[in-house]
Amino acid sequence: MRKKIVAANWKMNMTLPEGNALVNGIVAGLPALSENRQVVIAPPFVSIVQVAGLLKGRGHIHTAAQNCYTEASGAYTGEISATMLKSAGADYVIIGHSERREYFKEDNAMLAKKVNQALANSLEVIFCCGESLETRDAGKQNEFVEQQINEGLFHLTDQLSHIVIAYEPIWAIGTGRTASTEQAQEMHAHIRSVIAGKYGQTAADNMSILYGGSCKPSNAAELFACKDVDGGLIGGASLKADEFLGIINAMVAS
Ligand code: PEP
Repeated sequence: MRKKIVAANWKMNMTLPEGNALVNGIVAGLPALSENRQVVIAPPFVSIVQVAGLLKGRGHIHTAAQNCYTEASGAYTGEISATMLKSAGADYVIIGHSERREYFKEDNAMLAKKVNQALANSLEVIFCCGESLETRDAGKQNEFVEQQINEGLFHLTDQLSHIVIAYEPIWAIGTGRTASTEQAQEMHAHIRSVIAGKYGQTAADNMSILYGGSCKPSNAAELFACKDVDGGLIGGASLKADEFLGIINAMVAS
């Protein structure tokens, strides 16, 4: 079943007390959710236990991690495994965010291993893809994103129902410059056709494809109204309860 999802990516923001207040503010204003209208919150690693505790017992709102490591355990100082995330209360993990790709040099081969770790630990994956402005200006965005998906996900033979794709054009992340509804719909339809080509139309129709990049309450409704846009991955606007709730409400109404 294709779900509409709004996911918060707090990035490296929010101390424990700040995160506590933010989650309480979100929960206080949360509309009714359902199996096909879900919310995900991805705090920094140290807040996962706290956020999962605050959300415990509430339906259809989940805790996520922003990253995990490629290996299950061992001498990898400073890294966090998918097994640990699961035991801390995470249901989802974001893999392949453009900031991880750019600042930490995570390539598609590494991300494919992270996807495997996440799935082996029963975590749902939000797999990020998206092109730079240079790539878009060259008109190569479709093939670029297709390659990210091909190399990051196409080793999977099943478990596709545990993958959500987030299309996040790098030029729209944190810049205030949002993709137009035409640009978003065109790329989301392309991604769905790429998935259909590999796994069949039913798998593609069931996949949630989120948009990310300067999504806010004022543009969420029109983005989420696009046929192939199934919600959003939200950075800056997820750090204030009222703004994030505005985006959640747009998703629930879509
Ligand atoms: C993100 O980093 O995933 C993101 C979409 O950020 P922003 O909403 O701030 O553009």
